[in-house]
Amino acid sequence: MDFELTQEQAMYQRAVRDFCEGEVKPYAAQVDETGELRWEAIQKMPMLGLTGLQVPEEYGGAGLDTVTAAIAVEELGRACGSTALSVSAHNGLCCGPITNWGTPAQKERYLPKLTSGSHLGALALTEPGAGSDLAGGVRTSAVREGDSWIIDGSKAWITNPKYAPVIVTLVRTDKEAGTRGFSMILVEPQTAGLTIHPPEKKMGLKGSPTQMLSYDEVRVPLDATLGDEGRGFHQTMQTLDSGRISIGALSVGLAQAAFEEAVKYARQRRAFGKPIAEHQAIQWMIADAALEIEAARLMVYRAAWLKDRGRDFARAAAMAKLMASETAEKVCRNAIQIHGSYGYSREFPVERIYRDQRLMTIGEGTSEIQRLVIARKVLAEM
Ligand SMILES: Cc1cc2nc3c(=O)[nH]c(=O)nc-3n(C[C@H](O)[C@H](O)[C@H](O)COP(=O)(O)OP(=O)(O)OC[C@H]3O[C@@H](n4cnc5c(N)ncnc54)[C@H](O)[C@@H]3O)c2cc1C
Repeated sequence: MDFELTQEQAMYQRAVRDFCEGEVKPYAAQVDETGELRWEAIQKMPMLGLTGLQVPEEYGGAGLDTVTAAIAVEELGRACGSTALSVSAHNGLCCGPITNWGTPAQKERYLPKLTSGSHLGALALTEPGAGSDLAGGVRTSAVREGDSWIIDGSKAWITNPKYAPVIVTLVRTDKEAGTRGFSMILVEPQTAGLTIHPPEKKMGLKGSPTQMLSYDEVRVPLDATLGDEGRGFHQTMQTLDSGRISIGALSVGLAQAAFEEAVKYARQRRAFGKPIAEHQAIQWMIADAALEIEAARLMVYRAAWLKDRGRDFARAAAMAKLMASETAEKVCRNAIQIHGSYGYSREFPVERIYRDQRLMTIGEGTSEIQRLVIARKVLAEM
């Protein structure tokens, strides 16, 4: 297997990096402090296909392969965690399912809007009582009434609802059918009975809105079902497998950003008569970060590469997400350590990056769940 980027991938990486250096990174602290994404940047993203990374070109997307999409998410993560999370959730969790399972009419209705740079889409799986255990815990239900579904329940911790033209919602459509009793339904935010609550007050990723949703007799037509009725759980697992590549890429980007800040600081700061970069203890942290970021990045590329070839990538994606998110945690922790007290100050970006990365071992499957997925696959294979 050859991991060298193709010429197109390398050129795209350069273009996205330049865009992020100009439009995203300089505003990351402002996004964190105001709790608002910078829409001037998001509106320009369609130019580079960032709001429709893997959406076919006929719907305004870039139709990219998964490796190239991962490269883009890494670059966004290197620039601003909040922007990267909202844009990657939009791509992987909303555009992805609609591209994969939407009817021509559903694609026509939503994808051009989603790729336009004026909206960000959402996927609502998690509930107040169900995160890791969606199969056992999801209570939100949809019941048929004539030619409509009536949806009741609530969702929690959902990224982007306030910007979404459509919220892909996981519901139970048959309470007796176990994992075959779930469906995905497309719900438009202005539908009567749907309440989008104010954004949660979070530790990090403050510009990326995370909201609770209440569904009180929300009526949508039966043709708002995304994919086949009863396939929602399977679709969710497939979406999360792909989403793990994105969260892995985002984690690599955050780790890379903290690492670059730490190296810059270690060269400038002097202690005991020399730059701290010349003290061996600091060099070890730098060496470990370089090593682990490289390993995590290659694992993300490999999972993406397997997916692009139509091969089974679930184990590789779980491993990449686990490795990259835990690497980000360690690299960001050490980046603060290298900065000493200055790392604990809001004046330096490592404090924000540390808070932003903390989600990565939790969202789209916690580290514990990734280990379960990996162990199950290993035990089945060996
Ligand atoms: C900023 C943010 C954005 C998010 N965006 C979205 C979104 O867009 N859409 C969406 O649907 N959700 C979203 N989420 C929700 C997120 O995916 C869930 O929080 C996550 O899946 C964990 O679920 P939970 O919080 O219910 O934790 P729980 O499932 O309650 O887990 C609590 C702890 O128990 C552990 N645990 C659970 N089961 C096991 C087990 N079998 N073995 C060992 N340990 C176990 C977990 O690893 C964890 O440590 C978001 C969350 C945040 C914070």
